[in-house]
Amino acid sequence: MEAVIGHDEIKDRFRTAIRRDRLPSTFLFLGPEGVGKQTFAMALAKSLLCQGDLKDPLEACSECESCKLFDAGISEESKRVKDVDLDLNQHPDFKYVKRRENRNSLLIEQFIGKDDRRNKEGMVHDISRSPSLGKRKIAIIDDGDSLNHECANCLLKTLEEPPARAVIIIIGKIEQGQLPTIRSRSQLVHFKALAIDQVKLVLQRFPGESLLAPIEEIATRSNGSLTILQQYQSRDLVEFRESFFNQLASRDITAGGFVKKLSDCVDQAGKENPVRRQRARQLVDFAIEFYRSVGLRLVGSEIDMGGDRLLMSAVEKVVADWDTDIDMVADCIDRCLDVHRHLNANANLSNLIECWLSDLGKLSRGEIGYHEIKQVGAV
Ligand SMILES: [Zn+2]
Repeated sequence: MEAVIGHDEIKDRFRTAIRRDRLPSTFLFLGPEGVGKQTFAMALAKSLLCQGDLKDPLEACSECESCKLFDAGISEESKRVKDVDLDLNQHPDFKYVKRRENRNSLLIEQFIGKDDRRNKEGMVHDISRSPSLGKRKIAIIDDGDSLNHECANCLLKTLEEPPARAVIIIIGKIEQGQLPTIRSRSQLVHFKALAIDQVKLVLQRFPGESLLAPIEEIATRSNGSLTILQQYQSRDLVEFRESFFNQLASRDITAGGFVKKLSDCVDQAGKENPVRRQRARQLVDFAIEFYRSVGLRLVGSEIDMGGDRLLMSAVEKVVADWDTDIDMVADCIDRCLDVHRHLNANANLSNLIECWLSDLGKLSRGEIGYHEIKQVGAV
């Protein structure tokens, strides 16, 4: 748990509940991406499974058989492409379920087994078995936001009558995004964005040369979330960001073969679909960041960009040159958010990119409004 920065209040709540032996069986961890929910859930699982005699119930010993198996599962996981179903099954009493890439939701077989193995495998089956090593079974369900009714129904009985001392942690983003049947049976734990100083503490753990900008700049741009890090660990991405901002500021966004350049940047991320989509999400986030900064400047807000000269100069150019209003900026952001949704729904990547850039050009030149794009059915 010492790997988890911040969230001290939540740590204290868990310490108290564990010491009093009054830990509820189902938790719903909620909060923005990149603030440490999953790291927290893993550290909690490891310490609850630990066979050592712990002074601090949240600090696992890392030496007992359980801790070694748990750590082995995590290091196995880190070597694999994030494309396969990962259950971290090294540990017999721990189950980790996440949405498979290219799927919109968790699959029923992940809970109750494939057709030919129904009720003989899957998380619901596994957690009902007696613990092998210690006294508990633990399951983490990542991507709780993509839990559909079918899967939730498989889970309900387990949540209503949980096996003794079993703990199930479901991780999601916002409370409203969770199914009421799950929400009402879970103890809600709200994770907040990290403070900028906490982000800095995390960043200090990285070897200096692995980050492509000063810690101050990264932390300031982070919005309290470590998802920002992906942007600063890839040189091609840092370079692309600059040319993308210039292109957005020019408003002739598809000029100079830019659709191809952006597609090339996606290709550079790798061959696997999940990493390509992740790269595309980052590029969409660049555009959102750009338009949001323009919007803030248009309404006269001071924006702290952490010494991010790149963004500052692109934004200043726009504010000086554009004959534009705040609605147009909001339209561009809406169009970017569309792309996020389509990326999650696995729309064709190259079509998506082409239409997106073309629409951003039209929107930012004021040739068309967002409602018109919706009417003609943008991809
Ligand atoms: Zn241990």
